[in-house]
Amino acid sequence: MQNYRFNVIDKANSKNPIVTVVPDKETSNYYGCNVFNRAAMRKYLSEDTRRSIYETVERGATLDRDVADHVAEGMKRWAMDHGATHYTHWFQPLTGGTAEKHDSFTDPRRHGEAMENFSGKLLFQQEPDASSFPSGGLRNTFEARGYTAWDPSSPAFVIGDTLCVPTVFVSYTGEALDYKTPLLKSDAAVTKAAKEILEYFGEGDEVVHSYLGWEQEYFLVDKDLFMQRPDLVLTDRTLLGHDSARNQQLDDHYFADIPPRVLNFIRDLEIEAYKLGIPVKTRHNEVAPNQFEIAPVYEAANLAIDHNLLLMSVMKSVAQNHGFELLLHEKPFAGINGSGKHCNWSLGTESGIGLMSPGKTDEENLRFLCFMANTLKAVYDNNGLLKATVLNATNAHRLGANEAPPAIISSFLGKQVSDAFSKLLESKGMVKISGKKGYSLGIPQIPELLIDNTDRNRTSPFAFTGNRFEFRAVGSSANCSGAIMVLNTILANQLRMFKKAVDEKVSSGVPVMQAILDETRETYRACQHICFDGNGYSDEWKAEAARRGLDCETSPPIIYDQYTSKDTVRIFSETGVLSEIELESRKEVYWEIYCKKLAIEAKVLSDLTTNHIIPVAIKYQSVLLENVKDLKEIYGDPDYRSRAKSQLNLIDRISADIEGAETGVEELDRLEEKLSRMDNGRESAIIYHDEVAPLMERIRKHVDSLEMTVDDQMWPLPKYRELLFIH
Ligand code: ADP
Ligand code: MG
Repeated sequence: MQNYRFNVIDKANSKNPIVTVVPDKETSNYYGCNVFNRAAMRKYLSEDTRRSIYETVERGATLDRDVADHVAEGMKRWAMDHGATHYTHWFQPLTGGTAEKHDSFTDPRRHGEAMENFSGKLLFQQEPDASSFPSGGLRNTFEARGYTAWDPSSPAFVIGDTLCVPTVFVSYTGEALDYKTPLLKSDAAVTKAAKEILEYFGEGDEVVHSYLGWEQEYFLVDKDLFMQRPDLVLTDRTLLGHDSARNQQLDDHYFADIPPRVLNFIRDLEIEAYKLGIPVKTRHNEVAPNQFEIAPVYEAANLAIDHNLLLMSVMKSVAQNHGFELLLHEKPFAGINGSGKHCNWSLGTESGIGLMSPGKTDEENLRFLCFMANTLKAVYDNNGLLKATVLNATNAHRLGANEAPPAIISSFLGKQVSDAFSKLLESKGMVKISGKKGYSLGIPQIPELLIDNTDRNRTSPFAFTGNRFEFRAVGSSANCSGAIMVLNTILANQLRMFKKAVDEKVSSGVPVMQAILDETRETYRACQHICFDGNGYSDEWKAEAARRGLDCETSPPIIYDQYTSKDTVRIFSETGVLSEIELESRKEVYWEIYCKKLAIEAKVLSDLTTNHIIPVAIKYQSVLLENVKDLKEIYGDPDYRSRAKSQLNLIDRISADIEGAETGVEELDRLEEKLSRMDNGRESAIIYHDEVAPLMERIRKHVDSLEMTVDDQMWPLPKYRELLFIH
């Protein structure tokens, strides 16, 4: 294999990486070199085997077991030629990350010999010990069996010395234990439902997919400083820390150049991404200091999600090489913007028809309005459930905090599409949709600008952006499959109902196009309350949203009830995406994860306050007391009192904050003790949300106040102003 070399860092001086090798500028020379893609298949698989696998990938045909043996053999040879000695099924448990269990290709034979082996059976299916992955009661530890099964629609790849095979992960009895299984089912459901609608338009032969383009935000922190913050190391966010005097007020980071040290990192990251066939395209600074974004060109949703998860782990390891720690937490720093993962989602066909793109003819525009109205209706009817897919312990710090979308799901359409729907409500016939408009700046050397058919609204959680919806409420650390799977499923369900209504109209004699137009109008009329083009941060909107019947709940443990509401259970069983038992188990898992995350945070905060903060505060208070005593000795009573006024004030303040922090920690420990005796996930999660989280905030206030009082030289933790500015 060709050896690609990257920026080499002077490890002894990680803050000043030295670029010694300029990476190959022609990415096409190595793009996808670590992926078992078509080019690799041409080299390592026979034509017949290739044909079978293409059928499987493109048409969803079931792959013959014999063919699997040939694929496995070719894949093994390719992987070994790329330095692999091990293989793993790579899957997506409900913990949110990815999981793998490596096995060696080496197979011992008789007489002390060995050979490399990888059969179709091993490629198809494996049985990792499932007992340590969350199952929400689907699987008792004594029935620990869980199976991983190959997903041929996402290509295998090599990382380091390991061949990774993307797989689904299911229980002994076939229930989904992962994110990928329901995602694949939801994609099948929505594409089937969409094709049935396309038949009306004579486009029933099209191959439809759900598409996704994610925008991944992240923070970088200097590794040395990171290591000095136990809260960052153990919980991925700062549980303590006073504001930095300067943070993002000037918006200067957003519009500035990417710092050179960061750019070196991003370049290396892009090279690693290209080697894995991840089509990253866009890189830029984000609003908060040290915050950045990377985004690819959109792909079929299943592949896009695999690529996102893969990139999330690659990002972390490349950052390490540059002396950084990369934070994917939604809110690593209080008081400044958090990180999201905007999910640009659409339906489209392989021939390039965007089902959420306006067209040129009346018929194309009717198709567009039909898919738009159905999407809006699906989101309106299931807005609480959609929120349940994005609200969790980490993202709860971000949603609704005046920077990210509010915790009420609504949709922004932009002027042109809103106007088109308003006209549709008033008329019986078809309406015109204005496309991109030419706009002259009046500067002769600058050509006409093409103005988009939507303007931007940054506060909307679910915004239409010209040819897709951008679901902005997804958190940066999430497996966005949870959200995309629900979007696909609720749209599939809605399209099925739509088709039923149209068919009824047609059978009573209404011409097909008129029936679609009438039903589109009625669908939009029934859900127009989901549309909101104003300021989503305002209090008026919260009141208005409640009047419109939109879900205003902000507590994650309570919103998870949506997973088993009557409607959710019906929709998911009718579409075949998740059974009631599977939905129940997901809810249990999410409560469990919520509790565990908060329990860890509470413990870390309690330890830090007791072991790091209070001792230092006492030490500084003793210095002040010594000083007061000295003043008294020199100036005598009562003279010294006026000279020691500030010191005495500080001493009082420190006492009050120590007491506040200490009693808070005691209360926290008592709550923890009580929680450790409870075994109801929902009830525990509610206590964590309603009591533990606010108490942690109270303790933090005292500690942050001490940070401003205590001598900077003594403070045991790097401060925000140090963590937040990379030099
Ligand atoms: P923004 O201006 O919102 O920051 P970006 O350029 O960062 O946009 O990201 C937009 C994302 O949307 C990219 O991943 C892009 O490929 C994706 N995208 C564009 N068209 C579609 C579509 N039809 N369906 C899904 N995603 C799309
Ligand atoms: Mg962007």
